[in-house]
Amino acid sequence: MDRHRQFETLAVGHGEDPAETQRGDVVSPIHLASTFAAPELDTEMSLDDVDPDAGEFVYSRLNNPTRHALERRLAALEGGDHGFAFASGTSAIATAIFAAVEPGDHVVAFDDLYAGTRRMLEALFRDSLGVDVSFVDATDPDNVADAIRPETTFVWMETPTNPLMKLCDVEAIADIADDAGVRFGVDNTFLSSYFQQPLDLGADIVAHSTTKYLNGHSDSLGGALVTSDDAIAEQVGFLQQVGLGNVLAPFDAYLTLRGTKTLSPRMRDHEANALAIAEYLDDHDQVAAVHYPGLDSHPQHDLADAQQSGYGGILSVELEGTIEDAKRFVDALDEFALAVSVGGVESLVELPAAMTHEPIPRAEREEMGITDTLVRLSIGIEAVEDLVADLDRGFDAMTRETVTN
Ligand SMILES: *Cc1c(COP(=O)(O)O)cnc(C)c1O
Repeated sequence: MDRHRQFETLAVGHGEDPAETQRGDVVSPIHLASTFAAPELDTEMSLDDVDPDAGEFVYSRLNNPTRHALERRLAALEGGDHGFAFASGTSAIATAIFAAVEPGDHVVAFDDLYAGTRRMLEALFRDSLGVDVSFVDATDPDNVADAIRPETTFVWMETPTNPLMKLCDVEAIADIADDAGVRFGVDNTFLSSYFQQPLDLGADIVAHSTTKYLNGHSDSLGGALVTSDDAIAEQVGFLQQVGLGNVLAPFDAYLTLRGTKTLSPRMRDHEANALAIAEYLDDHDQVAAVHYPGLDSHPQHDLADAQQSGYGGILSVELEGTIEDAKRFVDALDEFALAVSVGGVESLVELPAAMTHEPIPRAEREEMGITDTLVRLSIGIEAVEDLVADLDRGFDAMTRETVTN
């Protein structure tokens, strides 16, 4: 990959090459063709010899020019050699796991994973495919080391986690996995390639839901895997193109290429707004706790400083009161849309106990720290004054009801 240019420069142009198109397009055209005509029959040619970097394409599931441009960019941004674009973050993560396990194997995963990934590991890999899974509190790397067994083939982490913003020490866990000869993957969705580079910290493979920050405009569903390990890349490429065929469509590849161009300034704006809002919430008397790695009060603030180059745009806040108070708060907001997902330019609010983590039994949820009044905010890039005024409206609505009832 191109290691000479800075992140901002790679984000704008890497992977799209005007010289590759007939008319010198400065942005990649959307190549909708499902199949590509060959100039002549080549009886010596094998599919393995097809080189998309030389403009050679056969069939769009195998490779497509728009997707290929995006895959090159995603790899460059993550500091890796091989990028793969998928139909969703979920399909990217499933592919990373399929590439690492077979029946009888064992996976060690963070106990505070994205709820869909946890369900995938339990219902698909464990219950249907016979892959055992241990969920551990990975905020202490020793718990990961203790859970590894002879059958362990994969360690899967996410940092920061959703919605409690817990971190794990990627470098320490990479050493543990390395010593045990176990593959180590990280879901880097929450910080994006801009604020965290797990491959540099020792991870073998990185996943993204590009639905979130990489596309950034809440108008495309997609996922990515990046690795610098040639053997892993071969397994992942087989699954993406032949085993599962879960590729990203050309139009979404175009949207995501477009989204990544502004990743750097968007991430800086998301973070500046999130830090200001975290501080505002931290001082508020209707708030019981704020979870944001950028606050000194975050128990892993130092780890965030050591392994991240920023704190990101997502935080969660535990309100005083009951689920009724939390409902009044979120319903009173105008600027924050009441919606799941994160990472778009617009601010979103959701109540994990009712909207994303509701399948987890209440007692278990509470033990994890996901209380009935825990509210997750994905901070957008609007003017921060308007966002704070909106949160004021939410707190006013809580107080009004408490007084009149
Ligand atoms: C959204 C998300 C996913 C799932 O991605 P989809 O694109 O919705 O399939 C996985 N991990 C994290 C951290 C996410 O935020």
